Amino acid sequence: MSAIDLVALAGAHRAEVDRQMTVCNACRYCEGLCAVFPAMELRKTFTAGDLDYLSNLCHNCGACYYDCQYAPPHEFAINVPVAMADLREDTYAAYAWPGAVAPLFRVNGLFIALALVLAVAVFVAGFALMADSDALFRAGIEPGAFYRVMPHNTMVVLFGGAFLFAIISIALSVRRFWRAAGPIPVTLPSLWRAMRDAGSLRYLDGGGTGCNNKGERPDNRRRLYHHLTFYGFLLCLASTTTGTIFHYLLDWPAPYPWWTPVKIFGVTGGIGLVIGPLGLMRERAVRAGVISTGNRGLGAAFLWVLILLGATGLLLTALRATPAMGLLLAVHLGVVFAFFITMPYGKFVHGLYRFAALTRHAHEQITAHGTITDPPRQPLPRTT
Ligand code: SF4
Ligand code: SF4
Repeated sequence: MSAIDLVALAGAHRAEVDRQMTVCNACRYCEGLCAVFPAMELRKTFTAGDLDYLSNLCHNCGACYYDCQYAPPHEFAINVPVAMADLREDTYAAYAWPGAVAPLFRVNGLFIALALVLAVAVFVAGFALMADSDALFRAGIEPGAFYRVMPHNTMVVLFGGAFLFAIISIALSVRRFWRAAGPIPVTLPSLWRAMRDAGSLRYLDGGGTGCNNKGERPDNRRRLYHHLTFYGFLLCLASTTTGTIFHYLLDWPAPYPWWTPVKIFGVTGGIGLVIGPLGLMRERAVRAGVISTGNRGLGAAFLWVLILLGATGLLLTALRATPAMGLLLAVHLGVVFAFFITMPYGKFVHGLYRFAALTRHAHEQITAHGTITDPPRQPLPRTT
């Protein structure tokens, strides 16, 4: 898909969300379900930035589809979760920086990620073999054993560079996304409210009854899998940060024993990163074709990379005292590198765009109503 195709697709998806939001704005039956409808009600018409903002405010719980009297086969064909999901995926490419390579990731996200894993794993393994033909297959868990495969400073340059690129690129993308819906101030109350809503995944509750799955009763499994993924990722980040402190402040190089915070955070986080994304893939498959676009596109690529990240980290921890350690470290480093490089172009950014959307929503509600009022919780009768 070329950049021109991508612009045309985003235009078509925006037009569809605009059409559906115009119908919803006249109906307003779902106004208590989530943040999207109160945000929509503050507008009579929608700019492109408004539509992109609303699409990232939607958490795809599915409640408004099952409650809608205008859902297919009605001629209005209202399906807000799918219209929002389609546009949301466009926004990741539309605001990405640098944007020139975004179309490549949009179509080949998983392929590019796997190719990067392989290339970096081969590079690390080759690097180790050239330095010391025995280093890749030698067992050992003494401090510094990992750096026989690749010296610490080389790792810092390679992975620190990739991480720095990801951070700069994502920061510029989020700024573009934020400005597109109109520049408003970021205030402490709106930030605090957004942190609470994001931390509890408040709008994944489907208006109070949980997420809706095709042919199943609403439940909170999708919210649980999101929590496992999100907090699993944060724990892995805490593990890496603690390891850096150990290395530089305590002069204690990796690998670390089981009882250290580095390992406790890493293992619990790794388990979350495997179970959470697997559960989310199951949910996506169950909802496919009705309120989800299924296991394809950037969403699926992102989940696979997270699963690989958790699984290779856990395998490395479990088998680090065996001759498999060198190869497992090379593969795990390949996954980490692929994760960093694909972060700005894949679904990783959805968490940050959604946080920005929640912050904007909180600010708008304070400005409009003088306080942050929760929408009235009004779980509606379900057809499933
Ligand atoms: S989703 Fe359907 S029922 Fe809900 S506000 Fe829109 S048109 Fe009305
Ligand atoms: S799918 Fe859920 S979060 Fe999205 S607009 Fe509908 S009710 Fe709101």
